[in-house]
Amino acid sequence: MAIEKISTFCRVCESSCGLIAEREGNEILSLRPDKSHPVTKGFSCPKGILAFDMHKDSDRLGYPMKRINPRRDASGQFERMNWDRSADEIAQRLKAVIQKHGQNAVSVFLGNPIAFNSMLSPAVASFIRKTGISRTFSSGTQDCTNKFAAGEAVFGTSTLHPIPDIENADYLLIVGENPKISHMSFISISDPMSKLKAAARRGAKIRYVNPRRIEAADGTGEVSQIRPDTDLYFLTALLNEIERIGGFREDVIAAHANHIDGLKRFIKNYPPERVEKVVGLSVKEIRDIAKDFSGAEKAAVHMSTGVNMGRQGTLAYWLGADAFPCDRKPGQKRREFLRFRILPRSQGRKNKVRKSLL
Ligand code: SF4
Repeated sequence: MAIEKISTFCRVCESSCGLIAEREGNEILSLRPDKSHPVTKGFSCPKGILAFDMHKDSDRLGYPMKRINPRRDASGQFERMNWDRSADEIAQRLKAVIQKHGQNAVSVFLGNPIAFNSMLSPAVASFIRKTGISRTFSSGTQDCTNKFAAGEAVFGTSTLHPIPDIENADYLLIVGENPKISHMSFISISDPMSKLKAAARRGAKIRYVNPRRIEAADGTGEVSQIRPDTDLYFLTALLNEIERIGGFREDVIAAHANHIDGLKRFIKNYPPERVEKVVGLSVKEIRDIAKDFSGAEKAAVHMSTGVNMGRQGTLAYWLGADAFPCDRKPGQKRREFLRFRILPRSQGRKNKVRKSLL
C-alpha cells in the first residue's frame, strides 16, 4: 500500500505547529515537523512530536471501560464496553444527576487541545447547549481568566489582547513568564526563544521581571528578581515613574484612551520609593526600567502565567495593557509595534479598541 504524506498540525497549544504525518492505509507511521510550513518552519516542541508516541502507546485506551467493583475498593476492576452502550449509560446517569440535583450539579471541563480542534469545539458547545449545563471550566480558568476579564474591561472584548512585536521591538519587558519553558501564551508564535535570541542579537534590550533567574534569560537578557505576587505594585510604580519623566504619549492617549486622569490619580499613590520594599526591587532598578522602556524607540510589554495566577492578576494585566500609550519617544512618528487582534463585529461585542483605560 502506498505511503501518503499528510499535512497536519499540533493541537496542544495556540502555536499550531505544522506537522507531516505519514500514513499507510489507516495506520499512522510517523509524525515529524513540517519544514515547509510557512509560519512554524519545521519547529515543534517535544509535545507535538510525542503526540505520535501517545497515539500508539500500549497504555492508551482505544475503547470505553466500566468499573465493576465498588469505589471503596483500593484498586479498580474494569470491563470493556462497546461505545453505544457506554454512551447510553453515561447519558442515563447524567440525566438522573441533573434531574435530582439540578443543572448546576454538573459542569464541563475543557482541556487545552479542544480549543484548537475545529470539530470538537462545536461538538462540546452543542453538548453544553443541549444539556443546559451552565458551568464550564477549562485550562484557561486556572491560567488566564485575568486576561479575558481585563481584555473585556480595557478593549471591549475578552478576545482582544496586545501582542508584542518581538521582531521589531527595541525594548521588551517580559513579566512573570519564562519563554524557554512556557513558549509564551497569547502570542501564537511557535519558537519564541529563537525570536528573542534574534532580537537580542540585533541589539534589542530584553528585561525579564521574575522571582526566578529563569532559563530564558541566558544569552538574551537580564532578570529583575521581584518578590512573588507583587507585579501589580511594580507595574504601578513603573507607570508612576514613566508619567514622572514625561513618557506618556498624549497623542496616543488622545487617539486610543479615555479616563487617563483616573489612571494618573491611581498611579500617583505608588512611586518607586513606596513600593521598593514590597516588590524587592530598588528604586534605581524600577527607575532604570521605566527610563529604558519609555526611552526606547519601540518598546513592548508582555506578561503571562506568573502574573495571571497572582492575586491581582487582572489589575496587573490591565496596567500592562495601559503601558501602550507610553510606547514612543516624544515627537516620533507613529509605529505599530503593539499589534491588536481585532475581531469582526459578529465575534466580539465591539470591533474596535474601546476608548477607555479606566
Ligand atoms: S509549541 Fe509544542 S505544543 Fe504548541 S503547537 Fe507547537 S508542538 Fe504543539
